[in-house]
Amino acid sequence: MDQFAVRDGELLVGGIPLRRLAARVGSTPFYAYDRTLLSARVAQLRSALPTGIELHYAMKANPMPALVGHMAPLVDGIDVASAGELKIALDAGTDPGCISFAGPGKRDAELRQAVAAGILINVESFRELAVLAEASQALGVPARVAVRVNPDFELKSSGMKMGGGPKPFGVDAEQVPALLQAIGRAELAFEGFHLFAGSQNLKAEAIVEAQQKSFALALRLAEHAPGPVRTLNLGGGLGIPYFPGEQRLDLAPIGAALGDIVAEAATALPGAAIVLELGRYLVGEAGIYVCRITDIKVSRGHTYLVTDGGLHHHLSASGNFGQVLRKNYPVTIGTRMGEPAAEAVSVVGPLCTPLDLIAERMALPQAAEGDLVVVFQSGAYGASASPQAFLGHPGVAEVLV
Ligand SMILES: *Cc1c(COP(=O)(O)O)cnc(C)c1O
Repeated sequence: MDQFAVRDGELLVGGIPLRRLAARVGSTPFYAYDRTLLSARVAQLRSALPTGIELHYAMKANPMPALVGHMAPLVDGIDVASAGELKIALDAGTDPGCISFAGPGKRDAELRQAVAAGILINVESFRELAVLAEASQALGVPARVAVRVNPDFELKSSGMKMGGGPKPFGVDAEQVPALLQAIGRAELAFEGFHLFAGSQNLKAEAIVEAQQKSFALALRLAEHAPGPVRTLNLGGGLGIPYFPGEQRLDLAPIGAALGDIVAEAATALPGAAIVLELGRYLVGEAGIYVCRITDIKVSRGHTYLVTDGGLHHHLSASGNFGQVLRKNYPVTIGTRMGEPAAEAVSVVGPLCTPLDLIAERMALPQAAEGDLVVVFQSGAYGASASPQAFLGHPGVAEVLV
């Protein structure tokens, strides 16, 4: 992966050679996130998107507090998926006016916390609305609400579908007019709509199509709204390449199509902000996972690099977080960059399960005990999306460099 530099055969993170960084962290395994790459990604996205598009960070992709603190001033808002994430976003100094909350099973207490905080709540059921109405009465502030719509279409070629057909997320488009009426009756502060069709998409045409259909659906639903639409959130879903043959997403057609949407919204939904809420795309490529080779075993002719890291820290790289057929993440020996591949080896972790696989039959340079294995594309859905307690090994460290 070309986003990290190499010097004297060693990978650099934020300008620091990998071995030096490992010594600074004091233990392996760890995740390292590069601030410069995070900032550059936001800047690159801004230049590809039309002005008038607001960029939000969906922090479930990576909730490390220091990273959220780095992202908060770079983006226009933070999207949280729980009261726990809300705390991190508020602690990072984010203006509550720029925080929104989505998730299919918001607990009563979480909804009350959200009303008290003054953030925008994406309502996903009639029950949530009832709880919000009660909390608004009790606190004397009307809840700020948007309706999360489960659209009547799917995002094509998406790694994970989040909308279309029966889904636990949002309210089916056909039930939204009734929900909008109820919001009006409860005298809550209606602000708009949220639509999110799917995650990890690398096809620009599919993303453009979903955004256009989402916009058209929002225009139809706006006719039933109890007030003007101030925000239209078109969701996330921009993918990053993980596997051989995958290419980085072409932003040009997405930027152009969003330009048309912004222009049309100026007359059809005057004053409405058009929002993209991205997780993986903003942070995924800026992070690596680093573990140390603790043993090298040859079993019936096949070499296993045994490491101190694995599935318990990096479930996605093991292939068990949404993959159907397991494929290798981009993996390298970060202390032997540029050395020729010697043989196809497997990189495994310390867990007593064949699922604990970091790389399967991958051509890597000849490695030794103590060398550092690097998994690229690890900035999103890593530490917080992994079963760290499984088998009782130490947790993983995280650093922002
Ligand atoms: C997970 C999530 C996102 C971010 O998705 P990515 O594919 O990481 O961009 C955005 N919005 C909501 C509501 C989510 O649940």
